[in-house]
Amino acid sequence: MHKRALIVAITFTLLMTIYTVRLMLLQLSPTSVRVASYKDYKEVNWRRSAVDQRFKSIIVDDGRGQFLDASGIPITGEVYDTLAVFPMRHITQLPEMTIHRLATILNSSSAEIKELLKQQQAVFLMHNEQPIKLSAQQAQAIKQLKIDGIEVVDYKNRYPSDFDLKHFIGFTSEHPEWAEVAYEKEIKELEGWDQNAQIGAIGLEKSLDRLLHGLGPTRLRYSVDGRSSELNGIGKRLQQPNNPYYPLSVLTTIDLQLQNEIEQYAESIQLKEGAIVVLDASNGDIKAMVSLPKLFPRQLTSDGEQWRNHAITAYAPGSIYKIVTAAAALEHGLISPNETFECNGEYGHYGLSCWKKGGHGLLTMEEAFAQSCNVVFAQLSERLSAEQLFNAAEALGAIHKVGWHNDQISAPFTSPLRLLQEEEMGRIFVDNKTKDGGILAQTSIGQRDVRITPLQAANMVVTLLNYGKQYETRLVQSIQYADGVPLVTFPAHPSHENSYSLHIATAEKILKYMKSVVQIGTGMKAQRGTWSLAGKSGTAQTNTLANHQWFIGYGPVEKPKYAVSVLALHQSPNSSNLATTVFTEVMNIAARMPN
Ligand SMILES: [Zn+2]
Repeated sequence: MHKRALIVAITFTLLMTIYTVRLMLLQLSPTSVRVASYKDYKEVNWRRSAVDQRFKSIIVDDGRGQFLDASGIPITGEVYDTLAVFPMRHITQLPEMTIHRLATILNSSSAEIKELLKQQQAVFLMHNEQPIKLSAQQAQAIKQLKIDGIEVVDYKNRYPSDFDLKHFIGFTSEHPEWAEVAYEKEIKELEGWDQNAQIGAIGLEKSLDRLLHGLGPTRLRYSVDGRSSELNGIGKRLQQPNNPYYPLSVLTTIDLQLQNEIEQYAESIQLKEGAIVVLDASNGDIKAMVSLPKLFPRQLTSDGEQWRNHAITAYAPGSIYKIVTAAAALEHGLISPNETFECNGEYGHYGLSCWKKGGHGLLTMEEAFAQSCNVVFAQLSERLSAEQLFNAAEALGAIHKVGWHNDQISAPFTSPLRLLQEEEMGRIFVDNKTKDGGILAQTSIGQRDVRITPLQAANMVVTLLNYGKQYETRLVQSIQYADGVPLVTFPAHPSHENSYSLHIATAEKILKYMKSVVQIGTGMKAQRGTWSLAGKSGTAQTNTLANHQWFIGYGPVEKPKYAVSVLALHQSPNSSNLATTVFTEVMNIAARMPN
């Protein structure tokens, strides 16, 4: 455990050092007036430090950039009324009646309130884990009490209490030892930076940390002398960064209502571990990305396993990988028109058997796909080379990371940018040149060494829907200044990782096969959807006690709007495919969305 933590710390330090050096270069050559204004800000602020000691303060807004969904609805940064108490001498000597009224408004007791007021030496926000959230009526009633030193103030809570935290956004935490190294220059030279600031730990909070930090917090300040009484003429005031362009906000591609409803649904059916990804069928934009179990930053385990975003972690795919095998065979003309195959339940050569006892009998390719017949796919694998299978997997985006990234350095970034830093690669073979028939047969049905992430799996469907054109899945559209003008945009673009694209005819055939899965095959449960749906099921046995269940597909069939992948981890081997049910309900939720 120690060793692992050390490696993480060293890697982080190294990356942040590179980051810092790049940043210095950037600051020497400001690329826009607005970036330059950041520097001006620093210069007017040094004078403030002289008077700083006389103030006590609390942070009511950390000044960090916020996240918006695709239509501009805030995902982070909920502003609410809370109660600030200033340590003025008379606060401990308030009339009994006033204390009683305050206690009644706050659903507390006079004794509790008195105890609270007595203990505090500095200005503080009334807390209950978070600063307390006052209702409009409570706020109004407290204002009417007109107690000098007890005031209703705006507080900005980064992670709204009504929603679950999102893995793709991540969270921030204090890491003074990292911050000190990573932001050494900023801490020394810029107002609003110190080693105790919150920095991004995972997700977009981490990949965009440098830009999100902004100009520092808004503080509620209170001037004191030695006897904790108010200095004449200074008193209480808000001190905030004076720059109209900050904080920045990150306009994501997420549909927040869709995301939240899927999260609630997953909780209602007690899907304990797994992932759900919803992509825009036209360009691979991420509309929703759910990972379970939920993220509770206050209860994190030290191994980071709980932080894991399962949507971008690679798992054994089972039969959804028959899409890759079918694509490889079609690409190379290895299936004759009207050819029939035979499944008698066993595939002697390598001890493989079909999931259907006694076999499927005679099948066309489309029927074999719809029934997910292992024996027919093992037969196909005999006609394929490892290279042909690898190329099909790559063309479908099942090998390389598919999240939007920029390998070049372009301002305002100071290093190559990968929005989903925790994304894993897929894999088809350990040895891409293998000639072992047993390995090829197992691989063709998604077993053995094959791994794919739910994000890749959903994007594979987008690639088919775009007739072979593969997109990088985008999570962010742009980063904006406070006035809404973009600082940087992230245009949707095709992937440049794959060396070749599938033929249109191959994509069309597989899309048709996926319709048959729902019409006559293993996905008939999906017929219950609001929309007509198409897809492919999969089950990957991990051990005798559990398997991973998959379903990936698209809808509505007539005019595809979304590509969805569902992964339910560690399911009982005898249970029916939960992922098919979840897929159908996620599409039903999508069908209810207003736009
Ligand atoms: Zn079969």
